[in-house]
Amino acid sequence: MGCKAQVRFMSVKTALSRSGLPDLEYALNPYVGCQHGCLYCYAPNYVGDTDVKANWGRLVVVKENLGDVLLEEVLKKKRGVVGLGTITDAYQQVESVYGLARLSLKILLTHGFRVSIQTKSTLVIKDIDILMKYKDRVDIGFTITNPNYEKAKPVEPCSPPPAERIKILRLLSETGLKTWVFIGPLIDFRDGEFEKDMEKLILQVKDYVDVIYYDHMRLKPSIYLLDDPYRLMLVKSALNKDTLLRIIENLCIEHGVKCKPAFSDIKQQKLHGNTLDEVNG
Ligand code: SF4
Repeated sequence: MGCKAQVRFMSVKTALSRSGLPDLEYALNPYVGCQHGCLYCYAPNYVGDTDVKANWGRLVVVKENLGDVLLEEVLKKKRGVVGLGTITDAYQQVESVYGLARLSLKILLTHGFRVSIQTKSTLVIKDIDILMKYKDRVDIGFTITNPNYEKAKPVEPCSPPPAERIKILRLLSETGLKTWVFIGPLIDFRDGEFEKDMEKLILQVKDYVDVIYYDHMRLKPSIYLLDDPYRLMLVKSALNKDTLLRIIENLCIEHGVKCKPAFSDIKQQKLHGNTLDEVNG
């Protein structure tokens, strides 16, 4: 699953950047740009590379010397939790060719760091050998905005169907790995089924996660460049956030699921799960 993207290469001077996120000391993003090309993605608003920004989803830059730089850094930096794929998805399709997420996982875990992965991709399963070996130091979260593929596909055109993500989530959970789901941004598809869809999703994942995180839609300039009906749908989802948040919170209580807002404060201005100053780090 995934869409074709043009690939470019770059050399980096740093691999790990400080993270302002709760529970993360560092952020690591092997690729600039993301070929999942989600319509609601916040990242293009903050990307410095104008080509990547203008071709979001169609151009990915590979940090070709990431492994060498990371290897030097892990010997010098204090151990901590590293968010892998905090800005863009580390397990997007190019990972199957360049393997930088796998290489980073190996280096970090063999040097005593902890790793927290957030992805929409089922490709993460290819690294099950490493994940299992260091299961006490990793956690894996899947982003799912809607359990129905026909709804998710137009807004997440190049990500695996939600059912496939849930299948891998269950598999990883059953092997004893710590797993979680991020429902965000909350999107009301304006078909009167938001609550029904969210209940379906929560019921499908609740026995396979330690926690469900959620976050409302945040309006960013790129949203206004979209065509209708998606622009209207996303804008209305943002404006109606209080109602959508209440629905999620009530469902979590009703079904006895531990749920937490992903970001407690707008101050942190999250992207894919990252703070602005970490974008394209
Ligand atoms: S929302 Fe996440 S998965 Fe989607 S394009 Fe943006 S970075 Fe990639």
